[in-house]
Amino acid sequence: MSVVVIGAGPAGLKACKSLLDAGVEVILIERDSLLGGQLVKQTHKFFGSKEQYAKMRGFDIAKQLVNDIKDHPLLTLKLNSNVVALFDQDDSILVSVYKESHYEEIKATRVILATGASEKFLAFENNDVPQIMGAGAIQTLMNVHGVMPAKEVVMIGSGNIGLIVSYQLIQAGIKVKAIIEASDTIGGYSVHASKLKRLGVPFYMKSTIKKVIGTECVEAVEIVSLEDQSVTTLMCDALCIAVGLSPSYQLAAMLGVKTQYIKELGGDVVLLNDRYQSSHSHCYVVGDASGIEEASAAMMEGVLAGLYCALSLDKKVDESLIEETLKQLNDLRNGPYGQKFLEGQRQMKGVQNVI
Ligand SMILES: Cc1cc2nc3c(=O)[nH]c(=O)nc-3n(C[C@H](O)[C@H](O)[C@H](O)COP(=O)(O)OP(=O)(O)OC[C@H]3O[C@@H](n4cnc5c(N)ncnc54)[C@H](O)[C@@H]3O)c2cc1C
Repeated sequence: MSVVVIGAGPAGLKACKSLLDAGVEVILIERDSLLGGQLVKQTHKFFGSKEQYAKMRGFDIAKQLVNDIKDHPLLTLKLNSNVVALFDQDDSILVSVYKESHYEEIKATRVILATGASEKFLAFENNDVPQIMGAGAIQTLMNVHGVMPAKEVVMIGSGNIGLIVSYQLIQAGIKVKAIIEASDTIGGYSVHASKLKRLGVPFYMKSTIKKVIGTECVEAVEIVSLEDQSVTTLMCDALCIAVGLSPSYQLAAMLGVKTQYIKELGGDVVLLNDRYQSSHSHCYVVGDASGIEEASAAMMEGVLAGLYCALSLDKKVDESLIEETLKQLNDLRNGPYGQKFLEGQRQMKGVQNVI
């Protein structure tokens, strides 16, 4: 029986590498035709240290992670394959996979869930008009398919995703009319925000979207101030929504694992022990699926979960890699932007009897 890794983003690819290096047979299942998850659409260079692929572009990091595993004899790769259900079966987990109108069942000794996250949406008047898009969709159109998604975009959300995608829109020759933010502070890194301000992009703080004007497609948006309720109309042909992500943990929930709402981790999450094991000890959860963070952390969690999973199968692993990866992960989270995630983790640890 193999270990099944679901999702070939940075977390899943790194988990595969740890397992394969420990001599474990792995089936990697990815619903997309490309390997790399979110990384394939990230054209910007990453921050951090050399170990965290600093100064490399996201899509190049994806290529490297794939090259590290793709020819391994213990790896079976299933692309364009969507995992639709997990069933608890005695000492194994039955994985139901849908591909090209067929269902396949795979018996797994362990499952590592690395399914990433889904984008949050907003309720407002006329929010079903074409050309209202999530940041992930607009990024895929531009950076994966080479399609110019619009001429003038209004961005909702000033977190890192809103800021980075705004910059990429400008690089593609698209005008970013404004960035709208409900809070009084910019959510993303100031280095990204400063770049946009220098390029003349206005930020509307303490404001939100009131409605979209247009029937066939977006023609303009009305923005409302949350302070004095004043309304501003901005002409544009697309609205991009970047208001956060929710962990995609639902497959694990089908096994009856314990979950809890933890705001700092992005909403409902699976309760995990220090080894990324859920209350169903054969099901591990890593990366954005376990709590919203970033690719560097997702990769390190993938490394660790793969190693812990291999240990649970009595395989020999490089223990120094566990120590080194834990140290890097702690260093990353102890920086100024890791505090929110650490608070989420504290809350998770406060829940008694996870397993
Ligand atoms: C615009 C943008 C900019 C970012 N910039 C940075 C940055 O500069 N630095 C940084 O560290 N992070 C950055 N991030 C965050 C980073 O991309 C994510 O945190 C990271 O990709 C999470 O990795 P993951 O492997 O958990 O999930 P993902 O990368 O989302 O991968 C999940 C994979 O699972 C697959 N999948 C999901 N469900 C199923 C299923 N049922 N069956 C089969 N396959 C499935 C998906 O298709 C996907 O390939 C950015 C994100 C965005 C959107």
